[in-house]
Amino acid sequence: KKLEPQTTRETSFIGKMKKTGKNIVVFYGSQTGTAEEFANRLAKDAHRYGMKGMAADPEEYDMSELSRLTEVENSIAIFCMATYGEGDPTDNAQDFYDWLQEGDADFSGVKYTVFALGNKTYEHYNSMGKYVDKRLAELGARRIFDLGMGDDDGKNQTFKLEEMEPFDSKNPFLAAVTVNRKLNKAGDRHLMHLELDITGSKIRYESGDHVAVYPINDSVIVNRIGDLLGVDLDTVISLNNLDEESNKKHPFPCPSTYRTALTHYLDITNPPRTNVLYELAQYATEPKDQENMRKMASSSPEGKALYQSWVLDSCRNILAILEDFPSLRPPIDHLCELLPRLQARYYSIASSSKVHANSIHICAVVVEYETKTGRVNKGVATNWLKNKMPTDNGHKATVPMYIRKSQFRLPFKSTNPVIMVGPGTGIAPFMGFVQERGWLKEQGKDVGDTVLYYGCRYKKEDFLYQEELEEFEKTGVLTALNVAFSRDQAEKVYVQHLLKKNKEAVWRLVHSDNAHIYICGDARNMARDVQNAFYEIAEELGGLSRSQAVDYVKKLMTKGRYSQDVWS
Ligand code: FAD
Ligand code: NAP
Repeated sequence: KKLEPQTTRETSFIGKMKKTGKNIVVFYGSQTGTAEEFANRLAKDAHRYGMKGMAADPEEYDMSELSRLTEVENSIAIFCMATYGEGDPTDNAQDFYDWLQEGDADFSGVKYTVFALGNKTYEHYNSMGKYVDKRLAELGARRIFDLGMGDDDGKNQTFKLEEMEPFDSKNPFLAAVTVNRKLNKAGDRHLMHLELDITGSKIRYESGDHVAVYPINDSVIVNRIGDLLGVDLDTVISLNNLDEESNKKHPFPCPSTYRTALTHYLDITNPPRTNVLYELAQYATEPKDQENMRKMASSSPEGKALYQSWVLDSCRNILAILEDFPSLRPPIDHLCELLPRLQARYYSIASSSKVHANSIHICAVVVEYETKTGRVNKGVATNWLKNKMPTDNGHKATVPMYIRKSQFRLPFKSTNPVIMVGPGTGIAPFMGFVQERGWLKEQGKDVGDTVLYYGCRYKKEDFLYQEELEEFEKTGVLTALNVAFSRDQAEKVYVQHLLKKNKEAVWRLVHSDNAHIYICGDARNMARDVQNAFYEIAEELGGLSRSQAVDYVKKLMTKGRYSQDVWS
């Protein structure tokens, strides 16, 4: 083995990147070590995105090479720049700073981003970071991400966390499950109440907002796919986008394993779309299977009908398709490329932050049904949530979640009456609304009528939150609790029937008292039927024609006085 010459240190970072296969270089201007530490962490983190990073001290390298960074394929320069003293560069970045100021380098094509480190209480807050960010752009470099403004002032830490780290779809908060109880007293369904702990997260929510949760797929299905395709699911993989221009280099975070991809990132339970069938058809070795798959993917009436019945109506997921087309054994790589991403599920928050600032409540029904092929399909999120017990062998059960703001809001003035219509799990947001109205009352506020229309199948089985609701009625927080039990008698009784029965009171609240109307739950039938009931009430008591009644409700909607939170 030849020894490297010892005489000179490597001053060419381009050379080093090429030699070691790195494509991210993180320069740091550091005085006390913080920026250097950040740079090292960033360089290490690069592998999570399928990149390779190195941290570099600008004092040790020939910075004039920066304009040649484009020689390294898919490269990025990141600058972690601290500001020192009166807005000065740190000692190790002084030469770089001078050179930038004087120089007329051409950085065309160089991709960069800057993270500034400083302290807001100083007048020249982050001036070095701001300067590098601005100057690189002036010299033609391409900013690929906005300047990050780091502030280590304790007082502002809170602000910084809120402003810079909101938990969102890309950065969910891991909330511990503190309560998970069955709500229904009998029957073969499972309706549940969960509480997610958000203490310390700085997450804020309002009643009416939605919580999004990222579920994971059932390991039984994942393993079965692995078995059928004969692959070792723990193989480490990286799925790279061949389109160089695309912003998305990978369909999901890579490197990964097949198991992680199928468990966390890919949707393996919804019926696959026709384009997936079309692409997979080539791997079916049985001509008949191939023909059927191509037919279902085609736009012929016959093909569409076959897709509708064989895939959609039969609720066949990718596993069922692999099982029912035994000759279809696609390479798992291609399957991972074709399957869509596993999506977060939304739940209407069933609590008020005024009463439960640090916890978010969910009311959900576990999805489980038998398909036409005799298989039992289980809803991904609800079955996963069902098993999230607060302590699982001493470990806290957690749920990755974030908040999605909604327009479903209590009236600004607490004196406005509210009419809430929410059968089944549609009760969820109204638990939050009622808690909040109770809290307002406790604060000594004048609170208008709070009227609930709830519906369930049997009084003895699925009257969700019966004790809580009756208590709210007793204390006057709920001025009227109307419950429609649909199956306790021969004929169906639904919420809209009770609305119609109380039409005078309903019309007075809406027409004379400025009530706000809220509908939550089933979008397919209930929401439409309830809306029709309001049309009928407006016709009968307002003396309106049908089209006038429709206009009347439309106006309520535009004024934010008729709001729906519905799903199917
Ligand atoms: P999935 O794995 O997504 O399976 C559900 C799918 O299975 C359905 O879309 C349907 O295609 C199919 N399916 C279900 N039942 C049958 C059947 N009997 N026959 C054939 N196919 C069937 N849910 C709540 O429980 N509480 C809430 O408060 C709530 N709030 C929501 C708010 C919003 C804004 C939205 C959009 C949805 C809300 N949902 C709520 C629904 C929730 O997001 C999920 O869709 C639900 O929990 C099912 O998720 P899952 O992953 O368990 O089921
Ligand atoms: P649920 O318990 O099935 O129903 C609540 C009550 O509403 C029952 O008394 C029911 O009566 C009644 N109802 C049925 N049709 C109605 C109508 N057209 N108008 C008024 N009331 C009606 O409700 P849930 O389980 O909470 O689910 C509510 C709805 O949300 C479901 O119907 C479903 O569409 C939707 N949902 C979908 C998913 C999903 O996976 N996408 C998950 C959860 C809920 P009967 O049953 O006796 O007729």
